[in-house]
Amino acid sequence: MQPGELLKPGLYSAAPNDRAGATVRLKGGRCRCGYFFFPMQTYGCERCGSHGDALTPCELSADGTLLAEATVHLHADKNRPTPFTIVKVALDDGPVIRTLLAEDSAPVAPGRRVTGRLAPVGQSESGETVLDLRFSIAS
Ligand SMILES: [Zn+2]
Repeated sequence: MQPGELLKPGLYSAAPNDRAGATVRLKGGRCRCGYFFFPMQTYGCERCGSHGDALTPCELSADGTLLAEATVHLHADKNRPTPFTIVKVALDDGPVIRTLLAEDSAPVAPGRRVTGRLAPVGQSESGETVLDLRFSIAS
């Protein structure tokens, strides 16, 4: 599979030699105090308040542990297909993120190991596959 077009290239990247997005990396940041966060921002560290040069971009692993999940059956936006599952994941590098569960994932429960991958979510106007980050049970 061609790496396709990323829906949110500011948030994650795929290795160029990656066939199926298995090694997606999250574009996070790290503070001089050792605190990791996602996504990258320069407003200030949530832990120590440092900003500017203290904050540097860094790549985070998309592996983590599931904290909570919620399935949405009815969405305010009628154009958004349901159901879909929102998951809260504690990344191994520290940040806690709220993201989407892959449609083909096995059912998840808090405490399970999950991993982020790039999944096809549609097609661009030029016909390229559009990929977005989805989490699923780690194999
Ligand atoms: Zn800090």
